[in-house]
Amino acid sequence: MAVPGDRPRHVADVARKLVPGRRARLVTGTVRAAAIRRRIPIPLRFGDGYSTVATVVSFTGLTDAQQHVALELGRPAAAGLPLVRLHSECLTGDVFGSQRCDCGPQLREAVERITRHGGYVLYLRQEGRGIGLYDKLDAYALQDRGLDTYDANLALGHRADERDYTSAAQMLHALGASRIELLSNNPDKGAQLGRLGITIARQVPTALHLTGTNAAYLATKARRGGHDLLSRSLERAAEPHRQPGPLGPAHVGTEGR
Ligand SMILES: [Zn+2]
Repeated sequence: MAVPGDRPRHVADVARKLVPGRRARLVTGTVRAAAIRRRIPIPLRFGDGYSTVATVVSFTGLTDAQQHVALELGRPAAAGLPLVRLHSECLTGDVFGSQRCDCGPQLREAVERITRHGGYVLYLRQEGRGIGLYDKLDAYALQDRGLDTYDANLALGHRADERDYTSAAQMLHALGASRIELLSNNPDKGAQLGRLGITIARQVPTALHLTGTNAAYLATKARRGGHDLLSRSLERAAEPHRQPGPLGPAHVGTEGR
């Protein structure tokens, strides 16, 4: 939290940058500086037996005052550029293994890939694309009556996607990771981070976690969320004679939420 009387510092304050390979343009990103509060190692073990060690990082000075954490995995300092995943909290998917979405497998995939590469999972307390747990459950009830995941949010008086990544940018600046590889197919994440002074050197697609119960959800996300990489993964998965990729037929390449 901000210390009273402490003058806010700004990082990436109206930064003027040349974007390589493109015409010069003004990149504005005003991000109030956050600081690391504590780093604590936590050994992780997932339901399938995969284990690794995360250094969990907490922060002070995040603008939305939510208790977001970063999981430092592998050796980000040794990686050329840290690989970063912005994961929005999903109690039903992450903890209980809900089959309505792909959040649990997305998180599991990200932890292993980032451990190998070196980087961070930012675990953001933005349940239900920012509408909260109870409203997400209400939205599920509307989906069971035929609305898709975006229209259900709109029917509840929310925007289709309420997530704001200012705190994520603050966390990355505090971690010294202002130039990253982003593990995501969601174009909004990279666009918001870019406006907040984070350079996305490369966007890496995540795997497709398709099941019988989340297929409609993923198709809606691809179509209405502008997730072009997810769209292509779903098209490839629908081809009957496709050769399995290196990750096997159940993982074809894409992201979430
Ligand atoms: Zn979920």
